[in-house]
Amino acid sequence: MARYKDEQCRICRREGQKLFLKGSRCYSDKCSISRRNYAPGQNGQKKKKLSEYGTQLREKQKTKSYYGVGEKQFRRYFAMASNKKGITGDNLLQILESRLDNVVYKLGFGSSRAQARMLVTHGHFDVNGKKVNIPSYLVKPGDVISVREIKKDSGAIKACIEENSARPVPTWLEKDENALSGKVVRLAAREDIDLPIEEHLIVELYSK
Ligand code: SF4
Repeated sequence: MARYKDEQCRICRREGQKLFLKGSRCYSDKCSISRRNYAPGQNGQKKKKLSEYGTQLREKQKTKSYYGVGEKQFRRYFAMASNKKGITGDNLLQILESRLDNVVYKLGFGSSRAQARMLVTHGHFDVNGKKVNIPSYLVKPGDVISVREIKKDSGAIKACIEENSARPVPTWLEKDENALSGKVVRLAAREDIDLPIEEHLIVELYSK
């Protein structure tokens, strides 16, 4: 059971860096990466040199883990990114950032993307006044995401807001603390995304 509880930390340890999958624990000294910064498993402490393919694959797996996206959906996003004007890697990250669960997390209504996804699935949010319970919903500039009126007193939401009130909101979003809502001012640009992702490796992987 303990192993199952640590599943998300094992992903971070496999990637060798913090992926912030567990909310407040990730910012504390309880973070597994701070205590055991090596891959899980018997041979985890042995240093392995990755091939070019291995490096590209790990970058893709890491990005999927950050956003909590499965392989099929990730490929779909890549196809969308390739068909859009501009740089495919930048487009891919912009699409991932536009997911409703990510926006809810960025607005501080969830402690982690996983928690934000659960809150969205459980119908805690409206987009432009209409209930949306699809975490993969892609927001557009001008969209307003708000905690649904009947959920404003929910203990889960209140606890999240309190816990994340100090977390800065990115400039492409605008938060209204009193109304428990946020507006998408514009789509995220590459410089807005502070995750240590080398998206060109993902593009190279899928372009083989
Ligand atoms: Fe676990 Fe979070 Fe640390 Fe990752 S960053 S190892 S999910 S506590």
